[in-house]
Amino acid sequence: MIAKVLTDISLDREFDYLIPAGGDYRVGSAVKVPFGRSVRSGYIVSICKNSSYDHAKLREISGIDTSRAAIPENLIALGKWISEYYCASQEHAMRTLLPAAVRSGKLKERTCKLYSAADRSAAEKYIIEHSRDARLAKRIKVLQLVMRKGEAVKAEYSGDIDFSAGAFDALVKEGLISCREQPLNSDMLAGVEPVPDAPLKPTVDQQKALTMVDDMLAGTASSHVLLLYGTTNSGKTEVYLQAIAKTIALGKSAIVLVPEISLTPQTVRRFRARFGNNLSVLHSRLTDRERFDEWNRINAGKVQIAIGARSALFAPFRDLGLIVVDEEHDSSYKQSESPRYLARDVAVMRGKLDNASVILGSATPSAESLYNAAAGKFLLCRMAAQVADKPAPLIRIIDRRLDPPPEPGVSNLLSPFLINAVHERIERAEQTILFLNRRGYARALCCPQCGYEARCPECSVNYNYTYSRSREVLSCHLCGNIIPAPANCPQCGSPEIRYLGSGTEKLESIVHGIFPDARIGRMDSDLMRSSTDYEVVLDKFSRGKLDILVGTQMIAKGLHFPGVTLVGVINADQGLSMPDFRAQERTFQMLTQVAGRAGRGERRGEVIFQTSKDSEVLQFASTLDFDGFAKFDAEFREMLNYPPYSRLIAIIFKGENEKTVADYAAAFAAELEVYKHDRIRITPPAPAPIEKIRNQYRYLMTVRGNGLKTIREAIRILALHRIPPAGVSVAVDVDAQDLM
Ligand code: ADP
Ligand code: ZN
Ligand code: ZN
Repeated sequence: MIAKVLTDISLDREFDYLIPAGGDYRVGSAVKVPFGRSVRSGYIVSICKNSSYDHAKLREISGIDTSRAAIPENLIALGKWISEYYCASQEHAMRTLLPAAVRSGKLKERTCKLYSAADRSAAEKYIIEHSRDARLAKRIKVLQLVMRKGEAVKAEYSGDIDFSAGAFDALVKEGLISCREQPLNSDMLAGVEPVPDAPLKPTVDQQKALTMVDDMLAGTASSHVLLLYGTTNSGKTEVYLQAIAKTIALGKSAIVLVPEISLTPQTVRRFRARFGNNLSVLHSRLTDRERFDEWNRINAGKVQIAIGARSALFAPFRDLGLIVVDEEHDSSYKQSESPRYLARDVAVMRGKLDNASVILGSATPSAESLYNAAAGKFLLCRMAAQVADKPAPLIRIIDRRLDPPPEPGVSNLLSPFLINAVHERIERAEQTILFLNRRGYARALCCPQCGYEARCPECSVNYNYTYSRSREVLSCHLCGNIIPAPANCPQCGSPEIRYLGSGTEKLESIVHGIFPDARIGRMDSDLMRSSTDYEVVLDKFSRGKLDILVGTQMIAKGLHFPGVTLVGVINADQGLSMPDFRAQERTFQMLTQVAGRAGRGERRGEVIFQTSKDSEVLQFASTLDFDGFAKFDAEFREMLNYPPYSRLIAIIFKGENEKTVADYAAAFAAELEVYKHDRIRITPPAPAPIEKIRNQYRYLMTVRGNGLKTIREAIRILALHRIPPAGVSVAVDVDAQDLM
């Protein structure tokens, strides 16, 4: 017999080997094979009788690679599909089927660094001795802060207004702050035993959905995919829970995909309460060892349910009955590296290959899923009623153009109306969320004297810097490059440089100024660089220890805080001006999601969208009219023949030499001409909206239309098997989710 083997080099090519007698060689086995003069690792991807090569010249597999796990056979077919459809090399596609820790068998432990005052009396002495030294003022503030807060991870301190990273590091160097490393406990529910709970009696809507699930599980439905389009609080999660219970009763297993950001202890607790230890939680904070253990638990059939982000889709169940994709519209389901797959679509494909049912759930389904439902490709269940029949939050649009002009020197980031609303909440001991989808303190630095504008020299797009005051740095939001923030204009030396725009850090300090007695927390990716911090702040907020939570989109999704009765969105129209056909959809989803954070408890919620633009998207969002929005957005997409009315493939060419990149892109495009037909439109390569990142020029071309299979195959071959000039790389993004 012949085994076709993919080695660990990305050649997008299978090699034929003879299977030695004896030994358990199957599709998916990890093997060692002779390769040239060396021995390489690989996976068997198929077994057949004949090879098109001369049998006499074929070499034998050296043996099973016992250091690595085998890929379950049913996943191999999925890997092949991913490789074909997403134009990725077969090796890349197979790699994504296994977590790195399982693939390599190498297990690193994770630790975190805890800081505290080294010696309190030394610290006090230092503070007293240097209290008059203005140069040490920052250090003293930081030291006082550390003494006050006690042992904590760095990010917990750095949220403070008086924090200075430089001073912190200096104090660590001087030995006044000590650091202790400890292994990270990643169990999200450590110390909390969820109370077991029983299924709730389904509502009429839920029953309708569950009947459809029964039909799907029995194989009598017209599709294996159900789009569960249900308003927030309509009881979708309860449907998932009961659908999973039905699946398990049939002796099958289930996968639940959630966006990483909503994989919170709250979500996990609900599943744990229903299914106890029959549940494997695959979140990004697992240590390699834990991930390895969980994977093996699933692989050995010890659990029947896995919940996790994108990659949980590849959980090695062999008897899969159901895949649930919650928040199916969420953009985090797209992987940005090769293979650039969209987990929602791969879930539909895995369901097909594994003969499993799929539930796609959302309060704001993607245009693609609505289209498939309307075309009869998916079953559709609409759940319009809220279980508790809660009144929807009261949403107001505050047009900032109508506000009185601000007093000089006073920030007008918050409208008087919003300030007043926050005041009321504080008085009533209720909580507020203030949402601004931009981290940092300010977003640009410019000089009014000479017109200088700071921008990362390695990236294009004006104002790519974000200024962080607590860290005194400018960081580029495209490449992550960090430089110290200048105190004077680097061009003319003027001290009057200004920071324009605002981020969450500035919002926090402004809110602090307006409400000095309020307890304020902040959540954004600047602060939350280690994920434990995220839980610390969330935990404080959910226990009512904070009055106001300021944050970016990190706080928009999935969180359930019954104490929150007010949500303020600072720049609601932000994002609408992005040059991307999904800008409207993203903005609508983002607004309705943050709005959904208000009024989850007893009291009715109030939401304030601040804006300085007229926009239909805001109008639809303010009445939570998703149907209206979907129709409006669909008309626009249909007119311009954008997905879902067509398919779209984006091809990005990158390299340091702009001319080489442009020339290669043009040559690549020319080769595709022969595959064009009247339903395909090709936008020729041109500089991408973001023209340059980290000194790499970027050219974008798109192929859009229907009947793309042949051209996609041609693109795949060109991108994977044609060697570009030195320094140029090509990335293909099938069903690209953004065109930047
Ligand atoms: P969604 O996922 O659509 O936002 P959930 O499933 O979280 O909705 O349900 C919202 C709330 O209603 C939850 O507190 C849940 O416990 C409750 N709930 C859901 N279904 C029922 C039911 N059939 N009977 C009573 N309460 C329910
Ligand atoms: Zn200047
Ligand atoms: Zn940059």
